[in-house]
Amino acid sequence: TVLADQIAAGEVIERPASVVKELVENAIDAHSTRIDIMVEEAGLQEIRIIDNGDGIASDELAIAFRRHATSKIQTRRDLFRVQTMGFRGEALPSIASIADVELVSAQANQAGAMIHLRGGEVLATQAASARPGTDITVRDLFYNTPARLKYLKSPRTELSKITDLVNRLALAEPGIAFSLHHDGKEVFRTVGNGNLQQVLATIYGTKAGQKMLPLAASDPDFKITGLVSLPELTRAGRNYVTLTINQRYIRSFPLTKALIAGYGSKLMVGRYPIAVLNIELDPILVDVNVHPAKREVRLSKEEQLTALITTAVAEVIGQQNLIPDV
Ligand code: ADP
Ligand code: MG
Repeated sequence: TVLADQIAAGEVIERPASVVKELVENAIDAHSTRIDIMVEEAGLQEIRIIDNGDGIASDELAIAFRRHATSKIQTRRDLFRVQTMGFRGEALPSIASIADVELVSAQANQAGAMIHLRGGEVLATQAASARPGTDITVRDLFYNTPARLKYLKSPRTELSKITDLVNRLALAEPGIAFSLHHDGKEVFRTVGNGNLQQVLATIYGTKAGQKMLPLAASDPDFKITGLVSLPELTRAGRNYVTLTINQRYIRSFPLTKALIAGYGSKLMVGRYPIAVLNIELDPILVDVNVHPAKREVRLSKEEQLTALITTAVAEVIGQQNLIPDV
């Protein structure tokens, strides 16, 4: 029901950036190699996402907006889906229940179709000419949930949350060409050639891109790859550390702390590195009781992983005499 969808939306769609997250993750899941994101008025007026992924079959468009309709099987990469019964097949119906949504999609060599919903009701479906992939436009977000609207921060803050999110997704997926436009102006774009250093330079500046060291470490449970900045390149704040688990962008205070610990005394007080760490693990090591929309995770064997991170960072930046406390 529309009400159930709105309740689900209330849990996970907190702000325009939540919509961008869900829709971009869908585009990534659909094997897109290019994802273009256009927002108007920090996403409150419009969020449009065009991908070149698998597309949705025209006779399945309406089904995709039904609760718990998911085409996705559990894959190793599907970290959150494997471990939570959380938000499976709920993003599209939730978003459609609190906004105006128009989706045009086509699969390769198939006729395309369009569906238009508002407040959870299907207003129209029709054949449409479309390139392979999906083009979704979300307008008037929260138009029927005024309490949500009130809770939002300034457009500038909401936009910075979208930009930050898209930056992290681009860092997590250097093989995908992303672009982000706000009110018609390009905010940033990546080329999608798989070069992480280049993505980092695009986001944090060319100089930063040049002062990164590659890192690789593994043990029987974890495999870590990524880039960490030289100790001379620091920022005021931990926000420049991007962590991914099985290519999903996550937040973790203990893992960030472990990374910083690897620098030992080489960091000045109040200064933090720029870093991207990709951690590969068996999803079974991720704690089950985690809210899918919050990007926080709880891991079993967390101490083993933090020790691995600290040691790897210490080695890379040449601080061999640092012994992590295990
Ligand atoms: P979930 O991602 O958990 O499966 P969603 O509500 O986000 O649930 O999406 C429902 C279904 O719609 C997906 O399982 C997928 O089949 C289809 N879908 C959504 N977005 C896209 C997209 N951009 N490209 C291809 N298929 C999509
Ligand atoms: Mg989804």
